[in-house]
This record gives sequence, structure tokens and C-alpha cells, in this order.
Amino acid sequence: MMEHSLNHCLISRDHYTNPWSDIGCQAALKFAGQYLQRAVNDASDSEARDQMMYAATLAGIAFGNSGVHVPHGMAYSVAGLVRDYRAAGYPQDEPMVPYGMSVIVNAPSMFRFTASACPQRHSHGAHCLGAEVKGATDEDAAEILAGQLIKMMKATGIPNGIGGVGYGETDVEALTKGAWAQQRLLSNSPRTIVQFRTTCAICIAAG
Ligand SMILES: [Zn+2]
Repeated sequence: MMEHSLNHCLISRDHYTNPWSDIGCQAALKFAGQYLQRAVNDASDSEARDQMMYAATLAGIAFGNSGVHVPHGMAYSVAGLVRDYRAAGYPQDEPMVPYGMSVIVNAPSMFRFTASACPQRHSHGAHCLGAEVKGATDEDAAEILAGQLIKMMKATGIPNGIGGVGYGETDVEALTKGAWAQQRLLSNSPRTIVQFRTTCAICIAAG
């Protein structure tokens, strides 16, 4: 849930946005940068968890007015084609990639892809999450945001890309097909998604 709300704010900050959504997204990203790690790693940290619940609410209001895009489309196949992945802390009787995890594992790769469409918004998103952006150029935006996300994912025990939830090269075709069906989300991307690109992003996430 927490990684998911973080992704919602980033994605809503990305492109099809508006000043109203920006307010909620920026506030939510700042809360996530400050409290996500504490909230995930210590269930008794009620201050951090309260703040993340508030961040999730802000993010929900924000993305409800602007939409989300590609990582959500890709999440359909990441969650839907699961074979044997079981996440710690979840019921173990059936394999499952929790929804928020299925969205965030694609996010660093996808933001590397979308950054060139609106680099300053990507940099600002990273800045809100706590990344150092002083002196950064537009060309740095992709790595700054991807790097900040990967740092936060590592700090909260999120698997390393879709390879970390059990997928490999032989799954790319099926994963792509599943994502490609979600045109409602792909068409919201700040860069045009063609099937080749979707495949590439999945490959990069797996690597
Ligand atoms: Zn979502």
C-alpha cells in the first residue's frame, strides 16, 4: 500500500496533471520521503504510519483527478501471471505479488523511459522524496528519480524489479501482452508507448 501510494504521486506528477493534483502529489511525496522507510520497517511506529496514511489519502485524491499510467498497466501482468512468488508478511497458502509491489517493481525503469518528456517534473518528484538535485541537469533527471526510488525500495525490502518476483526472459512476451491490453493506462504516458518499448522496459526491470 505504501509503495503504491508513492507511485501514485509520482505518476500523477508526471504528465496529465493539473495544479490541484500537484498540490496533493507534492505533499504526499514529501511525506513518503520522510516516513516511508520508518513506517514499513517498524509496524509500531505509529507516527510514521499515521503520516503515510495521510500521504496515501492525499495521493488518492490527487491521482483521482489526473490518472496514473504505465507501471499500473504493467502491474496487471506482473500480478496476474504470478507463478510461485510469496511475499513475506502475506498469507503463504497461494502465490501472490501484492498490488503495490507489482506497480513499484516496474517504476524505476519506466521513469527512466518517461523522464525525457518532462525532466524537471521527474527531478522535482525525486527532490520531494529526498534526493539531492542541486546542480542536476535535465539529462540527470531519469537517473536521479530511478536512483531515489531504488534506494527507497531497497530500504523497505521491495524485490529487485520483476526478476525479484520470479520472472525472467522467457516471461517477457506474456508480460508484454498483458500490459499491452491496458491501453487506458498506456495512453496516459508522457511518452508514446509502443509494444517494443513496453518489452524493453520489462527487460530492463528484469535485469
Ligand atoms: Zn494503483
